[in-house]
Amino acid sequence: MPELPDLDILADALHVGLVGRAVVGVDVTQPLVMRATSAELRALEGQRLDSVRRTGKFLVFQLDRDRVVINPMLTGRLGMASPGAKAFGSTACVMTLGARSGAPADSAAWTSDATWLPADQASVEMRYRDATRMGKVYVVPEGVERVIAGWGDRGPDADDPALDLEAWRERIRRHRGELKNLLKEQSFVAGIGNGYADEILWEARLAPLRKRSSLAADEVDALYAAVRMVLPWAIEELRARVPPRFEVEVRDFLRVHRKGGEPCPRCGTTISEISPGGFVTSWCRTCQR
Ligand SMILES: [Zn+2]
Repeated sequence: MPELPDLDILADALHVGLVGRAVVGVDVTQPLVMRATSAELRALEGQRLDSVRRTGKFLVFQLDRDRVVINPMLTGRLGMASPGAKAFGSTACVMTLGARSGAPADSAAWTSDATWLPADQASVEMRYRDATRMGKVYVVPEGVERVIAGWGDRGPDADDPALDLEAWRERIRRHRGELKNLLKEQSFVAGIGNGYADEILWEARLAPLRKRSSLAADEVDALYAAVRMVLPWAIEELRARVPPRFEVEVRDFLRVHRKGGEPCPRCGTTISEISPGGFVTSWCRTCQR
């Protein structure tokens, strides 16, 4: 499931690779993922891409006039490819963009001199693949109100500079349930999903099934510190590991998530794993309390 770190590097890469290019066409092979009329899709043609940003678990593509918002849900993945290059598996839609007529002034430093950038004069395809077709691609024409599930009630991004320790303490007070569920609750803070919730709880030395209402003040603060440590760490790891295949999820460097049966990297205890409802939770029973 793409989470804040995955979407962060993806937004940077698509921004530097695609901004300044105009849409040539949109080809939809899985209409189930699209939230747009065919007229709205056609109206994207000729519009230039101004920016690609992430917020929560969404990617937002701002064109000259209209916007495209993507929520990849469980299995949605995005990547860039040359027209005619071998298709990705489970491709749901492809947006083709033409030669670049202007580069972004604000590209992320880590993308400078990247060897995976498409050539300015070449066309490039932004491909969305989704094996379960649960993700959604919303076209939001200027002046149109389109309901985007989970958009309106999302909390601040988990790495939002405005979410300081005081704001964290204030927000978390309203929640009483299990910590794993709390971290995944997008109306609490946005961007954390099943995998990074496990990593954050391991970093904070807190058990996933602990109730928020049982936390001491210093544990509330430790959870905040872990959020603000794990997300930037993961972003750095992904910058080094993901390019050029942005459409493939990289998780092998994680320390506990899906590492059930392996030794805890901190204390050596065998990592426990449960998967209620198919969602894996992994943790160390010794050093997470
Ligand atoms: Zn341990």
